[in-house]
Amino acid sequence: MLDVALPGTGGMMPLPGRWLSCLLVRLGGELLLFDCGEGTQVALAALGWGFRRLGTIVISHCHADHVSGLPGLLLRLANSDRVEPVRLFGPPGLCAVAEGLRGIAPVLPFEVRCEELAPRQPQAVAGGRLVAELADHGLPCLSYRFDVPRQPAFQPERARALGLPVEHWQTLQRGEAISWRGHAVEPSEVLGPPRRGLAVAYLTDTRPAARLVELAAGVDLLVCEGTYGDDADAAKAVEHGHMTFREAAELAAAAGARRLWLTHFSPALQEPERYLSLARQVFPAAEVGNDGRTVALSFEDR
Ligand SMILES: [Zn+2]
Ligand SMILES: [Zn+2]
Repeated sequence: MLDVALPGTGGMMPLPGRWLSCLLVRLGGELLLFDCGEGTQVALAALGWGFRRLGTIVISHCHADHVSGLPGLLLRLANSDRVEPVRLFGPPGLCAVAEGLRGIAPVLPFEVRCEELAPRQPQAVAGGRLVAELADHGLPCLSYRFDVPRQPAFQPERARALGLPVEHWQTLQRGEAISWRGHAVEPSEVLGPPRRGLAVAYLTDTRPAARLVELAAGVDLLVCEGTYGDDADAAKAVEHGHMTFREAAELAAAAGARRLWLTHFSPALQEPERYLSLARQVFPAAEVGNDGRTVALSFEDR
């Protein structure tokens, strides 16, 4: 099970009732946060999933609305008795910015390990797999995909047919080979066909791009920026490196995403719902994100 939440959905500045865009993912009790603008710790507190298990923070880019909440959040983690290291990931330039921000939160009871990511280099993170792709926003900016793989089903009848004692089953189930009566038994001999995992993509502060369609291919949930609702703002979207609702919906449709949550609304966009029909013309499963929205994604059983 993968729990997903949108603690905030705004772009540029936090507003009363709308915190800045971010995405929170919970897997096996561990928390993973994407983006941390001003006030994100308040949005997380409102959600109530806690702070202590937040061990990974992934930043899209170093505009203030995505990174300036970092020192406050790190202090909040310290106040929540976290002592384990916190991993920080983001585009080139992030570590210098984070180091500067740390100047106002210099003493922490845990280590902060910053890593700048290259596109398409998967990382094992928080029990899943994180991969980044270059966004198109006029400065180093990354979009992300987080995958939770699923092991194939164990087939006990095949293990019995091979005469394997039960104490070896778990090792094979985990995908590790064993040695039995002098020869190796591969997991593939007792496991079923590959099974679909779960995937979420987070694309913000970017123009649409073919490489981002590829990044989000087949995801269960695409969280995508729709800074502008109205088609009439298409030129502004190009100028500022953002998307309209329609462009986000076209990207979701091209990627074959299962659902789409729009986020990162311009402060001028007071009622995003008014423009939702423009997205649904292209991608019927489109929804307007709102602060505090959550979903629990489960593995499919056939
Ligand atoms: Zn932004
Ligand atoms: Zn930006």
